[in-house]
Parts: sequence; structure tokens; C-alpha cells
Amino acid sequence: MRRPMIAGNWKLHKTIGEALELVNALKSDLGGIEDRDIVLAPVFTALAPVGEALKGSNIDLCAQNCYPEAGGAFTGEVSPALLQDVGCRYIIVGHSERRLIFGEDDAFIGKKVKAVLTANLHPVLCIGETLEEREANRTFLVLETQLKGCLQGIDPSVLPRLILAYEPVWAIGTGKTATGDQAEEAHRFIRQFLAEQYGQDQAQAVRILYGGSVKPDNVDGLMAMPNIDGALVGGASLKAGDFSRIVRFEKV
Ligand code: PEP
Repeated sequence: MRRPMIAGNWKLHKTIGEALELVNALKSDLGGIEDRDIVLAPVFTALAPVGEALKGSNIDLCAQNCYPEAGGAFTGEVSPALLQDVGCRYIIVGHSERRLIFGEDDAFIGKKVKAVLTANLHPVLCIGETLEEREANRTFLVLETQLKGCLQGIDPSVLPRLILAYEPVWAIGTGKTATGDQAEEAHRFIRQFLAEQYGQDQAQAVRILYGGSVKPDNVDGLMAMPNIDGALVGGASLKAGDFSRIVRFEKV
């Protein structure tokens, strides 16, 4: 039985003061929920204070990105170990905005996955197709290429620590959500790929989140799908009421 996980990606939003206001509201709305993982990914500047505020709570801290080296002359970058030092348990890697705006490719993202695992943290690896790729019937090919490129050389025994996020690019921040059936079809394909590469037991242990315009009014239907284990939420994670309702999903 995979434990559900709902993660909020705040992207480039919120000052430290605004971040703490949201965290305090979420702590009081969501305190006592123990049957699912609740995760927040603030901007880098808010990580340390948010990490302090989350200590002893049922909410975990996540970074939105990292650099795959432990240290050295890498101006402007942050290592997984330094993110762990401010309380991170998870690190998002390969978000489509990193791929499209900053030109990150699968090989580079694969190095990040390994660096995060080496630091004993959990990578949240994002994959997903563009609208053009979907319309050209290339969704599965794109997912397979991204998985192969990002997981190359990975030790199968660490797989249960990996979290995948299927995020169709056409659904991110657009208000267009994949239907439950569309998302489930992609999640089933991903799990099948993992089973073929690493064995059924390892594949069944990996949590696969859906991301792309998840809102209070569509989360229940998505979470009812057998291969959808949680959600990576962008826009709707910026408001306490919306994010709390998403965390409190009920399978319909
Ligand atoms: C995201 O940023 O990962 C995301 C899914 O954003 P949104 O929920 O706003 O589509």
C-alpha cells in the first residue's frame, strides 16, 4: 500500500513573512492528519525559516531544485546536503520549467537524482510531455526516454525512495487538467516501465504523483485512480484553503 503524498510547489512566490503566514495557517488546518505525507516547497530564501516553523509538525520540507555536486566552485548553486541542513527531506528535480526555461536535459537531471539519493533524501522527479508531443501520439515515447535518461545507472534497491511526478506540460498552470483516465493511462505506463526495468516489487513501491492544474474540485477524481498516489500542486498550493482541501482529498 503506497502512502499518499500531496506536495505544494510555491515556485517563485512569497516573501519569508508571507511564507510563514501560509505555513502557520496550514499547520492549524492540517494538524493531526497522519495517513498521508504533506510536503511544501518554498523558494530557497524561505527554506530555513519555513523549516524551523515545520519542526515537530506533520508537514515536510522540500526544495524546488539543487545542483548535483557536493561542493566547489559552482557560484549560485546549492547542494542536496546543504538543503538537508535546512531541514529538507525532498528535492524536486527535472520540473518542466527547469527543462524548458533553463535547458536542463535528462542526463543532467539524472545526475541530480543520484546526488539527492546519495544525500539520503527523496528526489521528486518530474516527467511529462508537451501538447505537441501528445498530439503527435508520442506521450509514451517521451515518458520512456525521460525515465531512461534520468534513471540511467540507478541502483534498483534505492527505487522506493524515488518519487515520480507525471506532469503533462500542457496542464501546468493552464487550468487544463488531464482527465482521470488520461492521467491513469500515463501512470500505468510509467509503473509498467519500472516493472520491466527493475521488477514488480520495486515498481509497486514507487509513488507516482500527478501534477497539472490540480484543484479542490478535481483532486478527488484523480486520487481515485489506482496508479495515482498523490499530487504535485502549483497555483492551488499558494492559498491555505485550497491546499488544505486538496490534502484532505477523498477518493470518489
Ligand atoms: C507545478 O508547478 O508542478 C504545477 C503542477 O503547477 P499547477 O498546479 O499550477 O499547474
